[in-house]
Amino acid sequence: MILHDIHIHTHISSCGSPEAFAEGYISRAKEIGLKTVGFSDHMWDRAVPGASRWYEPQDFAHVCGLIPEVPKSHRGVHLLFGCEAECRMDGVVGLSEEVAQKFDYILIAHGHDHMKNFVMPAEFLDDHPAHAKFAVRHFKDILQSPLRKYFTSVAHPFVPGTRHGDTNAVLCHIPDRDFRECFEAARDAGIALEMNGSTFIGFSEEEIRNLEYVRMYAIAKECGCRFTYGSDSHCYGDRQLGKVELLKSLAGISDSDFLDMSRKPDRKQNLFQRLRGTRT
Ligand SMILES: [Zn+2]
Ligand SMILES: [Zn+2]
Repeated sequence: MILHDIHIHTHISSCGSPEAFAEGYISRAKEIGLKTVGFSDHMWDRAVPGASRWYEPQDFAHVCGLIPEVPKSHRGVHLLFGCEAECRMDGVVGLSEEVAQKFDYILIAHGHDHMKNFVMPAEFLDDHPAHAKFAVRHFKDILQSPLRKYFTSVAHPFVPGTRHGDTNAVLCHIPDRDFRECFEAARDAGIALEMNGSTFIGFSEEEIRNLEYVRMYAIAKECGCRFTYGSDSHCYGDRQLGKVELLKSLAGISDSDFLDMSRKPDRKQNLFQRLRGTRT
């Protein structure tokens, strides 16, 4: 059973629902039995020049705007303060070491390919083999970032951020050996792979059985990767947990392959506690 959700967007993210608040997510986590909730609004650190216009206002100070609204009582839910960071198409990650250290965990996005000419050259969008080749290169760029030691998990790995129909059309151009190379590197770097709930919105169970993700996650499991779960919620909707459980079983992944987020952070005090002097 999945016990954490560490990919959650609130109203702080430009794409989040204006009605998505920390308190509501905590109540819903309690209802469905999640032990740990991590907030991961989109962020591009001001210290790194070259943010896109969309990322520009979403800096560290902006995402910290969530902290004062976190209720004192967490109802026994373990809270983590993270962010979803970005890797530009030139391999530069929008994060400085100084800011990276302040988060309890960091998700590094892979596949925001719809951010044309920022994350991926626009001409690859309609060229599936080129898109696939880029996705492999971009994954390797993430793992070679000087900031990689701060990355907890790769958000929505190899999800083509374009159209649902593109999923198999793009991923079928990535041979097993390329996935293996990527995932062995992730394992060696101690970076987990996310199983992303929002990816499965609009897919039936039957369609999930035929998705290239089954092959991909089975290879990741064989490589000894660890996993995290993220609903990627932008409002209080369905977290697609049943579909993620289905993918887990199809790929041979068990609960013990998941990171135990209830034990994070290991070395530093939770930012929420530090800034507000409260306890979970
Ligand atoms: Zn994302
Ligand atoms: Zn997200």
